[in-house]
Amino acid sequence: MNQHAHSSIDVIIVGAGLAGSILAYRLLQHGARVRVIHAPSVMPPASRVAAGIINPITGQRFVLQAQADLLLQEAVAFYHHIEHRFKVKVWHPLPMQRAIQTLKQQQAWKKRQDAPDYQPYWDALKSSDLQLMQKQTGYLDTNILLDTLHHHFMQLGCLYSEEFYQFPLEMTENETLWNGVRSKKIIFCEGWRAQSNPWFAYLPFQPAKGEILTLTVDQSLTQKILNDGKWLLPISPNQCKFGASYENNVWDEVPTAAVQAQLLDHFATMQPALTGVRVINHQAGVRAGTADKQPVLGWHPHYPSLGIFNGLGSKASMLTPWYSAQWSNYFFNQTPLPAHSDIARFSSRLVL
Ligand SMILES: Cc1cc2nc3c(=O)[nH]c(=O)nc-3n(C[C@H](O)[C@H](O)[C@H](O)COP(=O)(O)OP(=O)(O)OC[C@H]3O[C@@H](n4cnc5c(N)ncnc54)[C@H](O)[C@@H]3O)c2cc1C
Repeated sequence: MNQHAHSSIDVIIVGAGLAGSILAYRLLQHGARVRVIHAPSVMPPASRVAAGIINPITGQRFVLQAQADLLLQEAVAFYHHIEHRFKVKVWHPLPMQRAIQTLKQQQAWKKRQDAPDYQPYWDALKSSDLQLMQKQTGYLDTNILLDTLHHHFMQLGCLYSEEFYQFPLEMTENETLWNGVRSKKIIFCEGWRAQSNPWFAYLPFQPAKGEILTLTVDQSLTQKILNDGKWLLPISPNQCKFGASYENNVWDEVPTAAVQAQLLDHFATMQPALTGVRVINHQAGVRAGTADKQPVLGWHPHYPSLGIFNGLGSKASMLTPWYSAQWSNYFFNQTPLPAHSDIARFSSRLVL
C-alpha cells in the first residue's frame, strides 16, 4: 500500500440512524477505516422516533414478510450481540394481539392461516375468528441501540456531527475528497433526506410522515402489543407508545394537534377502561420508503465511489441487520446484492 492510501480512510458513512449506524458497525467489525457523519438537527431522525416494532405479518391482508425467517434470525442475533458486548438491553420480545375486524380481514386470514410458512408466527390456540395472536414479535429500543453504537464510535474517534453538502466533493473512480478527508467510498444513509441528494434523487423515494405518542395511564398495561390498525406498545407497567399515523409523501417532522387528537380518540376506543391518560411525548418523523417497498443498496451506476443504504420503510428494525450484512459482504467480497434490493433495478430511471 502506498503512502497516499495510508492517509485515506475506506468509507465515509453519511447518516447515523439505524441504517448508517448498523452498517458502520459492521464495516468497522471487518476492519474498515470508517468516518460516520450526521447532521445535527433540532428534530430527531426517524430512527429515534420509531417504536422499533418487529412484526413479520403486516397489512389488512396479513402478508408475511418475504424471507421473514432469515431477517428475524439476523435481527435477533445482531441485537443479542450488541446486548452481550455492551451490556445493554435493546431487544424486547412481546407477543402481538391483532384484531380481525372486518369480513374481508377474516377471509384474508382464513386463506393464509394454514400455510406452512405462517405457522412459526402465530399461536393457533390463543387465536380466534376475531383476533390473531402473533409470535416472534417485539420491539427494538432504537434509542438505546443508537446511543450505544454512537458511544462506541466516539470511543473509536470516528463519529462527527457535521452536515454533508455537495460542495466541495471531489471524486475520481477510486477516491473521494470531502472537507479535507480522503476516502475511497462514501455511503449515504440519509433516510428520507436522500430525496434531495443530487446523485441519488433519481431513485423513486416515497417518504411517509408518522406521528407517535408516549402515554401514561393509571392502570397496569397488559404486556403484549395490541394492534387494530394502530398499535399500543407497552414500554413499562403503565407507560406505552401509541401510533402511528401514516401520511404518504409528507416530509416534515412537526407533530400536529390534529393528529394527536385523532390518536387519542383511537386510543380511547381501543382501551375504554383505561383512565388517567396523559401524553408525555408527541413526536413526528419521516419514514424513508421506496415505490416498490424494498430497500435500496449499492454503488451509484455512474459514480462508483458513492453508495446508498436506504428505503427501510416501516420495517427498519427487522430489515437493517440482514441488509447491512449483505452490504458488508458486497463491500468487502463483491458478493452480489439480492436483486430486489440492488440499486441496479432503477438504472433505467437515470438520465445523464
Ligand atoms: C412515527 C414512526 C414510527 C415508526 N415505527 C417503526 C417501527 O415500529 N418499526 C420499524 O421497524 N420502523 C419504524 N419506523 C420506520 C423507521 O423509523 C425508519 O425506517 C428508519 O428509522 C430509517 O432509518 P434511516 O437510518 O434510514 O434514516 P433516519 O433515521 O432518518 O436517519 C438519517 C440520518 O441521516 C442524517 N443525515 C441526513 N442528511 C444528512 C446530511 N446531508 N449530512 C449529514 N447527515 C445527514 C440524519 O442526521 C440522520 O442521522 C417508524 C417511523 C416513524 C416516523
